Parts: sequence; C-alpha cells; structure tokens
Amino acid sequence: MRALPEAPPVDSAERVSKIIGLVDYPLHSRRPTAPGVALIGDAALTGDPLWGVGCGWALESARWPAEAVAPAATGRGDLDRSLTAYARRHRRRLSGHQYLAADFAKARRFNPMERLVFSAAARDESVARHMHLFAPRLIGPLRFLNPLVLAKATVVDIRHRKAAEPPAR
Ligand SMILES: Cc1cc2nc3c(=O)[nH]c(=O)nc-3n(C[C@H](O)[C@H](O)[C@H](O)COP(=O)(O)OP(=O)(O)OC[C@H]3O[C@@H](n4cnc5c(N)ncnc54)[C@H](O)[C@@H]3O)c2cc1C
Repeated sequence: MRALPEAPPVDSAERVSKIIGLVDYPLHSRRPTAPGVALIGDAALTGDPLWGVGCGWALESARWPAEAVAPAATGRGDLDRSLTAYARRHRRRLSGHQYLAADFAKARRFNPMERLVFSAAARDESVARHMHLFAPRLIGPLRFLNPLVLAKATVVDIRHRKAAEPPAR
C-alpha cells in the first residue's frame, strides 16, 4: 500500500470495528420499479464490493428516478411511464456491468479475454488506462471490449512473448 502513488496514510490508520469475514455475499438484481415505487441503490442492485462502485451507483440510481418522475410529480406527466423510463435507464446503465461483475465474482479462472487485457494492461500504459476506465465503471462493457483495444492488447502480448523468447542460436 505504501508504495502506491498517492497512497493513503495506512500507518496512521486506526481500526474502529471488528473485522467481518464473508464467504457468501449474494449479488442481488431486482426489478427497480413496482407500481408507484422506485428502488434505488442496493435495494435495486447489490454489486460486488470488489469494484468499489456501489456508492456511486446508489447516488446515480437516486438521481435517475428523481429526473424521470419530476414532471409527473408536478402534474405534467404520467408516473407509470416515468417509472418505466427509470427502469429502462437503470437496466441500460447497470445490467451489463452487473452481469460481468457477477460472473467475475465466482472465483473462476480468468477467461481468455480477461487474460489478454489484464496482461497487456500490466505492460502497456494505454491499455492500463483503458482498464482503469473500466474498473470503476467509467466506461461500459461495450467500450471496454472495443475491438481496437483488444487488437492493441494482442499486439502488446505478442511483442512481450517475442521479447521473452530465448534468442535463436
Ligand atoms: C464490504 C463492503 C465494501 C464495500 N466497498 C465499497 C467501496 O469501496 N466503494 C463503494 O462505492 N461501495 C462499496 N460498497 C457498496 C456500498 O456500501 C453500497 O453499495 C452502498 O452503501 C449502497 O447504498 P444504499 O444507500 O443503497 O444502501 P445502504 O448504504 O445499505 O443504506 C441503507 C440504509 O437503510 C437502513 N435501513 C434498512 N432497513 C431500514 C428500515 N426498515 N427502516 C429504516 N432504515 C432502514 C440501513 O440501516 C442503512 O443505513 C461496499 C459494500 C460492502 C458490503
């Protein structure tokens, strides 16, 4: 931790509660609306804490229904339709991330795509930056799996493998 750039001051940190271990932490995805009701944050979707995005998603998913129902709440729109629009936005923005995160959470081996991008990110700054944009979910799965980036990652890995080969006699 100390060696990280701009590392937090771990030496002066103080533990204030018991350490709680969990081996089974269910990731829930619920339909975020019911008639007259909108669920936000973890009530609608509990993500894997590993990625550290739950607070951001809680705030965003609070803003989305507020924006969607504002006209209906002031008598200028239909509440059910507003809630449907919120449910659609919630699904569009978060379900792809949740699908990948839930799959990743199974403690399985890395799939070939992950091996490719993770190893290239450790060797190339632009792929590392791309990985950095994806991990805190600043870009979506489609942009993460952009063919140009995958091609770049492949080139990085091939170059690395070639450089690691023993010189021909
Ligand atoms: C171990 C762990 C690490 C995490 N690390 C991160 C991280 O690094 N970064 C990040 O962004 N997110 C992280 N998260 C996720 C994040 O904490 C949650 O996604 C976020 O707190 C969800 O916010 P929320 O307001 O939806 O729910 P909550 O924060 O759970 O708030 C719900 C509140 O409702 C209260 N409540 C429940 N029932 C009732 C009731 N009947 N009446 C009144 N009040 C009630 C609860 O006491 C609670 O205070 C982590 C989660 C865990 C478990």
